[in-house]
Amino acid sequence: MLDNHGSAMKAPATWHRIGGTTVAAERPGHMAVRRVGVPILDPALLFDVAIEDGVIGRIDPVEGGEGDDALELWPGYVECHAHLALPANFDDSLDDPRVIALQYLFHGVTRVIDMFGFPLVKKLWETGKAESALPYPELVHCGYAVTSMCDSSGRTGHGVEFPAPVYMLGVQGDLEVVLRANLERGASFLKVMFTDGTEQPDNAARFSRLPTRILDYVARVTAEQGIPAVLDCNTRSEVLQAYSHGFRLFAHPVRDSVLSPADWEALSGARFVSTLSGLRPLIMRREDFLDEYSRPGFRETQDLTNLEFAAKMEEPFGVQFDRQETRLAALDDMRRNCLSALDRDALLVGTDSGNLGTFHGYSLLREIDLLAAGDNDVPAQRHRLRYAATVAGSQLFNDLAGRADAGPPIAVGRAATFNLLRPVGMGQTLSTLPEVTVADGTMVDRRAIVRSIQALRSSASSSKVVL
Ligand SMILES: [Zn+2]
Repeated sequence: MLDNHGSAMKAPATWHRIGGTTVAAERPGHMAVRRVGVPILDPALLFDVAIEDGVIGRIDPVEGGEGDDALELWPGYVECHAHLALPANFDDSLDDPRVIALQYLFHGVTRVIDMFGFPLVKKLWETGKAESALPYPELVHCGYAVTSMCDSSGRTGHGVEFPAPVYMLGVQGDLEVVLRANLERGASFLKVMFTDGTEQPDNAARFSRLPTRILDYVARVTAEQGIPAVLDCNTRSEVLQAYSHGFRLFAHPVRDSVLSPADWEALSGARFVSTLSGLRPLIMRREDFLDEYSRPGFRETQDLTNLEFAAKMEEPFGVQFDRQETRLAALDDMRRNCLSALDRDALLVGTDSGNLGTFHGYSLLREIDLLAAGDNDVPAQRHRLRYAATVAGSQLFNDLAGRADAGPPIAVGRAATFNLLRPVGMGQTLSTLPEVTVADGTMVDRRAIVRSIQALRSSASSSKVVL
């Protein structure tokens, strides 16, 4: 990267040349990006993009675009399945939400969908945001999830095993109470737990499940009231049943089988969040963890005591709990179903971060690698994955926020929130950090983020929150 921090009259305050692209930052909210690809507009052209008052003011195609190593401008990454109030760290500690906000921003993640528990950290998040010199990612959340009561075999509904409250639906009237409570906490959608925890055929059920009449009632009432509902599921039969009641958004891919073309036809319009990262730590070995956490971004943003825990790991959690083989098979099914969903524009990229070893921000970029690996890792598929992780994620974010679709996120008049990424061509992993992240027209200073995280970590609370 060439830099010129010039102070001559009329010269821009700073400019950077990265590959064939130039970024000139004039003052906060005002900048120009010259000779940049904008693949969601036209992958064959280069553009000059002008940012004024934090929004995109102009996008002009430039002559002779082909053949140079220009960067690509993509909307900010969207984390489509996170839990800010669940402890990702191996010692079960919960990072301060002010740290989590910076972890996301460092990795170019500018929008986050929290899938339950956010009310527990809401106040800290909002105070931190008000006091922060750095921009915060935009966030939508569901408040608390709903799940079923204890069943006759003594199983509880999925969700109650986590250190964040969930509401149990015993009778239809409970739904009204839950929706009102979540609304008061700022929730804009509902998360419905509907899985018995089966990972592979012949596995024993681990959780109770909502009775059909209540599931149907939830689908009907949320549809009538215009409240988006996201269903938490594991198996093909759970997804097909929920679909028949009207659910179309699924927090995970199917993990007990590979969906057939006929299944996909029957699930027309359904969308699935990938979440490979959330399951993977349960099967990883010590070397896998140390390799996983060795990429740029981990040391800068995460609690390094996790590396000590990983280094001491004797055998994977899956082996300890006698579930290694079924989890490996489940992960394989999930990945295949994700790639089929990608082919059908039905894939969203999310991690289930907040689950053990699944770190905010860092894991999202890795999730894209996990989806890209193997025979399918060709430029056309990498392009589709970037699209899913940015544009499709933005559409889901808007849907869950209850906002009308305002068209493509990169357009004149839209907020200037984007990443400049190396081209999708082979040669580096998709998890490579963005060259530049811009939030509301201002270039994000990664060194300032690292300093802020370090300052929070060295504070009396060690950057941890006790709920
Ligand atoms: Zn989750």
